[in-house]
Amino acid sequence: MERDIAMKILLKNAALLNEKETKHIVIQDEIIQSIISERMIDDQLFDKVIDLEGKIVLPGLTDMHMHLDKSFTYPTIRNRSGTLLEAIEQFQAFEPYMTTDLLVKNMSKSVERAIKHGTTTLRTHLDGGTDDYIKRVVEAFSIVKETYKPYIHMESVLMCDFNMDEALEKSVRWAMENGMDLVGGAPHLSEDTEHNLERIFDIATTYDVDIDIHVDESDDPEMSHLPLVCEFTKRADYSGRVIAGHCTSLSAMEEKQALTIIEQLREEDVNVVTLPGANMYLLGRNDKGTIRRGLTRVRELDEYNVHVAIGSDNIQDPFHPYGKADLLQMALLCSYGAQMTSEAQMLRVLEMISTIPSELMNRDGEIAPGKEATFVILDTKDQKLVLAEQTTTRETWRKGKKICSMKECVKWEG
Ligand SMILES: [Zn+2]
Repeated sequence: MERDIAMKILLKNAALLNEKETKHIVIQDEIIQSIISERMIDDQLFDKVIDLEGKIVLPGLTDMHMHLDKSFTYPTIRNRSGTLLEAIEQFQAFEPYMTTDLLVKNMSKSVERAIKHGTTTLRTHLDGGTDDYIKRVVEAFSIVKETYKPYIHMESVLMCDFNMDEALEKSVRWAMENGMDLVGGAPHLSEDTEHNLERIFDIATTYDVDIDIHVDESDDPEMSHLPLVCEFTKRADYSGRVIAGHCTSLSAMEEKQALTIIEQLREEDVNVVTLPGANMYLLGRNDKGTIRRGLTRVRELDEYNVHVAIGSDNIQDPFHPYGKADLLQMALLCSYGAQMTSEAQMLRVLEMISTIPSELMNRDGEIAPGKEATFVILDTKDQKLVLAEQTTTRETWRKGKKICSMKECVKWEG
């Protein structure tokens, strides 16, 4: 890794999103000192000059919905029906065999893949299914978080079990007192959703932490818990502090009902994360012929000013056997699934993996003077081609230092 902190670095001819002309980025002491438009610039004033020759520079990518503890358990754990319920059952049956060492190994693999693809901030959900598992997963995550601290900012969400009893709640509270950042869960899968939500909000308000929950991950139009989530948010005075992941039944229900719910989300500042890979895999399993796409109403939410971020969700596990911790791949799937394909929408999709989730996590992920010099450089020169190219040639920078780089190499023989 290069040690450039005290150096004055000039990145020449960087292409930034929504800018017509390339710019020069000046970095010093981990920070972007200035962004210069002048064509003539004196290289002698800088300790190091790198000419990007018009390459795209995106803010460090933010993956705000991962499941590091489950990643890379496929094909050891299978899901023959391809449904959410079988995935949950299969993973829970395997949890006793997930040692701390195995958790650290799988989590580390995910984190390294995320970093090399340009992710510099991530949030992971961690299962809270049994007392034993909670202890192991908290220990494993704290080891991984410490190991990768110089390279990536990480946050954790402890998922409350759907039918959490008092003993399990005690373990969740122990986890909150031992390094977990947020509280989560999947209350729509509970036998008593209202009670489960009540416990989640109670834990959150006790520890003054934000909430990030899975909501209505279903293609049943009758499943509609977002109004209840909004009600709880209002009652707890938690406006702006609740994230709802998935919300796929919004697409299954009729337009008028969905738009009423979207209005409520906006009013309570409850924002949404869409997980296109896992949901296109898990949902629509009973559809014959034309299979529904399984995404939430990404376009409508965005049009109504509910913030939408795109996350990886599960990586090579029974919930989703594909994925490689590459947000550009998820952005492409979202663009296809939600048909966000105009030039403006393509750029919006890129914001959904960078500036939008960064803001939702109260981070500072922008390329602007005074901000942390954290970004990914792509070997693509036209912002309209970022999704199409999916370039593997990338450089990840954090706090003014190059963390790693990848280069596609094709060798022709004969
Ligand atoms: Zn999830």
